[in-house]
Amino acid sequence: MAKPVILSVDDDPGVLSAIARDLRRRYGEQYRIMRADSGAAALEALQQLKQRNEPVALFLVDQRMARMNGVEFLAQAIPLYPEARRALLTAYADTDAAIRAINDAAVHYYLLKPWDPPEEKLYPVLDDLLDDWQASYRPPFEGIRIIGHRWSAEAHQLRDFLARNHVPYRYLDIELEAEAQQLATQYALEQASLPFVVFPDGETLQTPTIATMAAKVGLQTQADQPFYDLLIVGGGPAGLAAAVYGASEGLRTVMIEREAPGGQAGTSSRIENYLGFPVGLSGADLARRALAQARRFGVEVLTPQAVVGVRLEGQYRIVTLSDGGQISCHALVVATGLSYRKLNAPGVEQLTGAGVYYGASLTEATSCERQQVFIVGAGNSAGQAAIYLAGFASKVTILVRGDSIEAKMSQYLVDRIAQTANIEVRLSTSVAAVHGEEHVEAVTIRDQAGNEEKHTATALFIFTGAVPCTDWIEGVVKTDAHGFVLSGAQIMQDGTLPRDWPLDRPPFLLESSVPGIFVVGDVRAGSVKRVASAVGEGSIAVQFIHQYLSKVR
Ligand SMILES: Cc1cc2nc3c(=O)[nH]c(=O)nc-3n(C[C@H](O)[C@H](O)[C@H](O)COP(=O)(O)OP(=O)(O)OC[C@H]3O[C@@H](n4cnc5c(N)ncnc54)[C@H](O)[C@@H]3O)c2cc1C
Repeated sequence: MAKPVILSVDDDPGVLSAIARDLRRRYGEQYRIMRADSGAAALEALQQLKQRNEPVALFLVDQRMARMNGVEFLAQAIPLYPEARRALLTAYADTDAAIRAINDAAVHYYLLKPWDPPEEKLYPVLDDLLDDWQASYRPPFEGIRIIGHRWSAEAHQLRDFLARNHVPYRYLDIELEAEAQQLATQYALEQASLPFVVFPDGETLQTPTIATMAAKVGLQTQADQPFYDLLIVGGGPAGLAAAVYGASEGLRTVMIEREAPGGQAGTSSRIENYLGFPVGLSGADLARRALAQARRFGVEVLTPQAVVGVRLEGQYRIVTLSDGGQISCHALVVATGLSYRKLNAPGVEQLTGAGVYYGASLTEATSCERQQVFIVGAGNSAGQAAIYLAGFASKVTILVRGDSIEAKMSQYLVDRIAQTANIEVRLSTSVAAVHGEEHVEAVTIRDQAGNEEKHTATALFIFTGAVPCTDWIEGVVKTDAHGFVLSGAQIMQDGTLPRDWPLDRPPFLLESSVPGIFVVGDVRAGSVKRVASAVGEGSIAVQFIHQYLSKVR
């Protein structure tokens, strides 16, 4: 962290270097001693410090300066660093002015020139002022700051992206936070320039795209090589497991993830049934650990980057990326999991990201504090989200289309919901409409008999069924009627190899209808939709990939 600054300002070079020398001698270890030879130069330096979010502890300013005197300088410096201590250096003749400045210009102390010996006439006063400053000082947040509107879908996207990629940031609501307003004035921000991002190095971005943010925070989106032994599409638990096992067993491995490593599991507030974690662990934690493990073994992780197509050329499988790039490999793992089915009701599409969220969107939980929220869905993910959000919201209502919540949800979640006073479950009920101008303000719900009720609400979280993410591989591998990829014995037809299968051997377990393309996790037809099974499949697949590669290399 940058040392707090002590800034001395004086237009007399002799006095300036003497004061800087004395300050450095006593405070140089703990503070950065800066000097400026005019008020204007000092203000310029302060602007730069402010942009880099560096703290200033003390101004030591000569009152008698030619262009801008000490008090005039402080009047402009205070709005930038209101908490910095302020001391004026004065000549005996200016004592009256200095005393007036204590009242008028909020100066904390004045010192008389010369200050020899400093041990007696300078340090005791400054020690005192610096102690005061230290007592009230809160180290500034050193990460990325995003200034935006609470209900801005773009700001939500940025926050979600950073959170899911484990990049620390602070969100400053333009309507609520004084710091946001201060930055808005500093950068002359207008409505159209939000969300606005300030980086620790002082660089700023106005309404950045996810790709620009990814590049700026150092995420890799382009492959280092044109060819890999193993290419994995999807960075959920299944893809991460395949990556860890593949790379740890010597395969040149690349994993491509379109949003953030962790997949659906990464959005889970608490996974309670994963072996070895008796008190559960958050999906974000699991994702962070798995990603670190994969990188340690040398996996190249490209994110955010989406695969949009795949083609076969002899023994090569070549994927096309959303930016038009191509990467080829010998073995391809499909680990693209599921995404939520869209909810069809008036208002949902317009307000997505501004109160309507697909999935848990944990970044929004704090903005639900003391508000009413609705959850649509009856699976485990809906149950987990309800329990998590109940810790923030005044009331959580779960809307279940069927007539029982036990049908799809694990019993431990059903029990916890029953024990949570501020969760209500409405059976045989669905969303009729979502209302709001800029963000969700109310939700109309409808029961089986068609009766409608309109409720005030600030958010609607949707967990309605899921569809496999297979559009990018459609027509290349065989799928079932719902789009899930077939593998292993599912490829066989009446116990015999299908005509279009080109090899003598039958497909390996987890191998798709195309040799060398394997499928793991939720996207596989017949898979168990769980973290542990996805991880298991990702690791098992690597065994068969070795066998496959031994014949093609
Ligand atoms: C909120 C929630 C809570 C859950 N809680 C639990 C629990 O407690 N216990 C449990 O066992 N299971 C739980 N599950 C289920 C579990 O998370 C899934 O079974 C598991 O994540 C499946 O892993 P996967 O790797 O197969 O797929 P996913 O996790 O779906 O990962 C697939 C990844 O592929 C990426 N992708 C998709 N298409 C492309 C493309 N074209 N290019 C690049 N990348 C792409 C996606 O962005 C995604 O990151 C929960 C699920 C949710 C949503």
